[in-house]
Amino acid sequence: MNCKPKSRTFSRPRPKPRKSHVTKSGRIILGRKEYRELCALALERAGGYCETPGCRVRVFGRPENFHHIRHRSLGGSDSLDNIRVLCLEHHNREHGR
Ligand SMILES: [Zn+2]
Repeated sequence: MNCKPKSRTFSRPRPKPRKSHVTKSGRIILGRKEYRELCALALERAGGYCETPGCRVRVFGRPENFHHIRHRSLGGSDSLDNIRVLCLEHHNREHGR
């Protein structure tokens, strides 16, 4: 019997391309391309910095820098007024981490 643990590799599934749409409840869900454009606009609005008052940490537009004020799982939309640009520390705080 071979007691050596099997090596397991976890590969992330490639995210499926999504098309932008509005749900029955009125949520705006953007496709990947449109979401990237939205994030670029949010980053421009933020001037490249965390939008937490008093924080001057520079952010570079990584996915972890964009926070949905009303989470998508709770009915939030992919819209400029629902996105805040946050540094990693403040984003983690928003999620209680
Ligand atoms: Zn910050």
